[in-house]
Amino acid sequence: MDDRDFDFETELLHADRMGTLGADVTPPIYQTSTFAIADPDAMARAAATPGYPTFYTRHGNPNHAQVERVLARVEGGEAAMVSASGMGAIAAAALALTRSGDHIVAQTVIYAGTRALLTTLLARFDVEVSFVDQHDTQAFAAAMRPQTTLVMLETPSNPLLGITDLAAVARIAHERGALVTVDSTIATPVNQRPLEHGADLVLHSATKYLGGHSDLLAGAVVGSRALVERVWDAHHLLGATLGPFDAWLLLRGLRTLALRVERHNANAQRVAEFLASHPRVRRVYYPGLPDHPGHAVAVAQMRGFGGLLSFEIDGGFDDAHRVMRELRLVHSAVSLGGVESLIAQPAAMWPGDRSSPQARAMGVIPSLLRLSVGLERIEDLLDDFERALR
Ligand SMILES: *Cc1c(COP(=O)(O)O)cnc(C)c1O
Repeated sequence: MDDRDFDFETELLHADRMGTLGADVTPPIYQTSTFAIADPDAMARAAATPGYPTFYTRHGNPNHAQVERVLARVEGGEAAMVSASGMGAIAAAALALTRSGDHIVAQTVIYAGTRALLTTLLARFDVEVSFVDQHDTQAFAAAMRPQTTLVMLETPSNPLLGITDLAAVARIAHERGALVTVDSTIATPVNQRPLEHGADLVLHSATKYLGGHSDLLAGAVVGSRALVERVWDAHHLLGATLGPFDAWLLLRGLRTLALRVERHNANAQRVAEFLASHPRVRRVYYPGLPDHPGHAVAVAQMRGFGGLLSFEIDGGFDDAHRVMRELRLVHSAVSLGGVESLIAQPAAMWPGDRSSPQARAMGVIPSLLRLSVGLERIEDLLDDFERALR
């Protein structure tokens, strides 16, 4: 097969094999830490090449290279890099792209691990961060300083599914010489390709939809070759290396990504509409609903609205908790993006006062439930909610 572009869904099935591997229909698992190289010049070249797939597995591995090739193609990037978790990818990118004295602009509502990375670890290295409302594009412009080197976005964001206008914020960042990363975990490349809207790097927790079966942890970075290599320079020193078997499982998960996400989108839209019209539900947060604050931007930059939604029960923390416990089909667990529906109560994980303004600013509302809508038959899901809400 040659290298010309195929449709996205075809690339998911074939991009890893184009031109290189040949015979294997399903790739073998290269469960090895190291690779024999006899020639010293070849050894030196391999050691110095970012992501070289047959030198030492912390640098790269054929199972990494296959997934990276697929991810680069489906995100529309030149190159990709996989890591042992989403945080492995996010931490490597943040550390690679900043130095002491730099300033980062990030969203107030952002993955809790990303927020903690910025406010604790990077703060110790004198990297400052300003948090802004992702729906307020002008707030990004106002927060930029001469020292701002990085703008870190996440859209849709966790847990209120806020939407950032990628093209508008990327323009502001680039006018001032800053790079833009987008955590696109919740969207997946089926629904959104941030590089098309001006982002410099796309970050993923591949633990979620890309893997899709709640059986692995992985992360990914996609973008230009030069930037991905810069991130790799930090990544291979930090050592969050994806195991070959998990890379193989991730590739297997990617084969069905397009099909799964179509069904996640359709099921989540139905569940969101059902909950929005239910008298025991105060409010539903889903970008596919016309009253969502980010709906218009989502329509412009997304092809589908994803499988994650949140909703407020008409009541308090305990009422929401009771609804969660009454569900039979939907398990209470953190994480998202698997084939099975999962529900979590963000306020239950909040370490301080659940009703504080700080908690609310980050989207933590006592009666809020976050639902990762799975691939179950829609009627069964709706029945489960109907019963639990009663
Ligand atoms: C889960 C998640 C992460 C962290 O990924 P891990 O694989 O758990 O390290 C980062 N960003 C978002 C949006 C996530 O949902």
